[in-house]
Amino acid sequence: MNKISKGLLGSIFIFLAGCSPNPSNGDATTPYFAENGFGEGVAVVQHPAGEHVNGITYVAYQGPNEDPYVAAYNHQNGTWNGPFQAGTSILGKDPTKKIDSHGKPTMIIDDEGYIHIFYGGHGGDKLLHGDNSLGGHHSGENRHAVSLNPYDITSWRDLNNVPPFGTYNQAIKMDNGDIYLFYRHGAHRSDWVYQKSVDNGLTFAKPVSFLKSKRRDDDIGSDSWYASVSKGLNDEIVIGFDYHYCWDRGAPRNNRGGHSTERKNLYFAKFDTKNNIWSNVTGEALQLPITKDVADEKALAVNTGEMWTFNGMTKVDASGMPHINAYIGEDIGWQIGGPKHASYFAWNGEGWVGDVKNGLPIGRGDFLVDGESVRFLLSGIDPKTNKTKVGWWESQNSGQSFTRGDVLLEFGDFKVAPGDEILTRPKSLSNLDSPGSAASAFIKNAHPDARMIIAEKPDGSEWRRMYLVGDNGPVVRLKDPD
Ligand code: ZN
Repeated sequence: MNKISKGLLGSIFIFLAGCSPNPSNGDATTPYFAENGFGEGVAVVQHPAGEHVNGITYVAYQGPNEDPYVAAYNHQNGTWNGPFQAGTSILGKDPTKKIDSHGKPTMIIDDEGYIHIFYGGHGGDKLLHGDNSLGGHHSGENRHAVSLNPYDITSWRDLNNVPPFGTYNQAIKMDNGDIYLFYRHGAHRSDWVYQKSVDNGLTFAKPVSFLKSKRRDDDIGSDSWYASVSKGLNDEIVIGFDYHYCWDRGAPRNNRGGHSTERKNLYFAKFDTKNNIWSNVTGEALQLPITKDVADEKALAVNTGEMWTFNGMTKVDASGMPHINAYIGEDIGWQIGGPKHASYFAWNGEGWVGDVKNGLPIGRGDFLVDGESVRFLLSGIDPKTNKTKVGWWESQNSGQSFTRGDVLLEFGDFKVAPGDEILTRPKSLSNLDSPGSAASAFIKNAHPDARMIIAEKPDGSEWRRMYLVGDNGPVVRLKDPD
């Protein structure tokens, strides 16, 4: 039996509190739009993973064999199209290797309506791709596919116009149609770069390093980074990043021997794309690539001390003020970096304001800012019920304190191992193959009915149910007639 049919047979109709206006009552529906999500399915970092345009929400996720899949929901008539396979990754083809999931697709739609996805990369392969002048190798091959026709997800072609070394793709389209692709140019000891396209993604200028990976002065490891990039106001792009302590094997502070998820601090920089100037939050110019010394001196937003971090989203509000979301916690489980609460910090014109103890739970998702109102849509395990809840957490005091709002989706009966408490990623399992749920960032230009992609991993299944969740709960799909 092949993997897809096994996944379909494993489907179980689950109860849902919410309801949806379409399709009409009486037709059998599922709350998920696909059940062939694979590995992690989606994550916040590969963003956007979907876009709403002309009444259609397009979504991308990792499916069978770690290949990218795209589906589309028509808000007018309440119908789904797809999913269609949009490319072929070189990851996920060797059953003896563990699931990688770094190649999850990132989506952007250009000004002519062509749908682009970037997928399949985790640093490239030395034998296949040769030297990486900006860092190291791991696996995979970063690829760029585009739809054959505008707004049409049924057929795709690979453009092969980005380096094979990239991973953690993040795509931004500026108001004038220029597309910027940001990513890490290799394995964890690599520079972060961006590439610019002025012709709707048909060609890209050479990669420009903006975060420098290099040997530490103490020679017991390397400076490394994780970044989160978003469009700011007008011609600006904003970048939040944290510092990865990439110790050598056997290094004094390394409790594992080599790469771990030890990351600390939060930094902020902005990029004026019109004048090609990078600066810190107060407007002081930054030379590229930014090194650890310069970052500490000019771009440090939050010193997290002994707490470990994991990037969330960085973005601006309507007046252009920056806001940073990260997941912060103590290192109580070195395999995975320990459980981390959603955290939120905002620049108030004079300093970064925020508190790790703000009432937000352990979970993953994205946030909206409107004046003093800050709203997080987070997916995490409710410790009282062991069920995964996807719901709002709301603040009316600029993020100083949050309380639970509406729950949009609930599923699972996940058994939490003793000591794991409310982890979304139990210690016993690979951090890239987490049970419970995975969440995307917000859909770009999201319709309120369709804000975020959620990937549920039912207990015992190798497949994930893929949901598109909005203010009326999941966007349901008619079941195929028997
Ligand atoms: Zn590392």
